[in-house]
Amino acid sequence: MPSLLHTHSPWGPTDQIGAGNLLTVEKRLAALALVRHGRIYDVSHEIYMGAPYMAPNQTPFLMSIFGSWRDTINRRRKMGATNDAGTNLERIEMTAHVGTHIDALGHFSNGDMLYNGNSAADVVTDWGLDRLGIEHAPPMITRAVLFDVGGAAHLAPGQTITPDDLKRAADAGGFAVEAGDIALIRTGWGRFFGADNARYLEGEPGIDVPAAKWLIDQGIVAIGADNMAIEVLPNPNKGLMLPVHQFALAECGVYLIENLALEELVAAHIYAGCFVLLATKIRGATGAPVRPILMV
Ligand SMILES: [Zn+2]
Repeated sequence: MPSLLHTHSPWGPTDQIGAGNLLTVEKRLAALALVRHGRIYDVSHEIYMGAPYMAPNQTPFLMSIFGSWRDTINRRRKMGATNDAGTNLERIEMTAHVGTHIDALGHFSNGDMLYNGNSAADVVTDWGLDRLGIEHAPPMITRAVLFDVGGAAHLAPGQTITPDDLKRAADAGGFAVEAGDIALIRTGWGRFFGADNARYLEGEPGIDVPAAKWLIDQGIVAIGADNMAIEVLPNPNKGLMLPVHQFALAECGVYLIENLALEELVAAHIYAGCFVLLATKIRGATGAPVRPILMV
């Protein structure tokens, strides 16, 4: 892998948004022109206690009510209030990588190297990433294309999606990839999200580096899938773990969108549309939960 790595981004030595540079005004207007019916497809899952997570690297989503109506009313009565205004407020603890989320470019390294020649030793601090955090990800309003490779049901864990599989899916969907697109890959594996977490987490069908390269060579901004890691798990090469993350994020500056819900799109035979994803700007975070939609 190290021999493949670029030390510099094509977008200059200070670039922190990677393939986000391909999100031009022209691309945005063309995507918005695809909206003819005003229909919205929500391609995210809910985030909740019980959503799958990959222990031990990922921690579970935890939420509890920290301030509740009863106690806030009591406190306010003691302060002289008579209108019994009760507040409900929660406290949440989570990694940004549970549920439907986007990975920041600084989420993965190759050794010490992060995207665009940044040294992890310089960038990663106890309180977050000094560069390449998710706050730098631009608003994504662009065309998304859906590669349905899952067929009538789903592919198997450990099954690799090849460039040829993607080409066939593009032909079947009636589209050709264009620069600035976002690729959505439907494997069928998403049906197990929250329904059978043990199975969802035991492995997954997904792309390997050749399919990622095929997409990225055509100017893809982000790759999303209905699985937890985009890429085939386990990798067929036992000597590689998560090479697509290294290739897309650290080498190419291409974002990954994980745990998507794509069954509704497939059922409606929607293979292209205007995709909208706005990542919450959590400073220095390695990702963010998102609620992407596709409009047609
Ligand atoms: Zn992630």
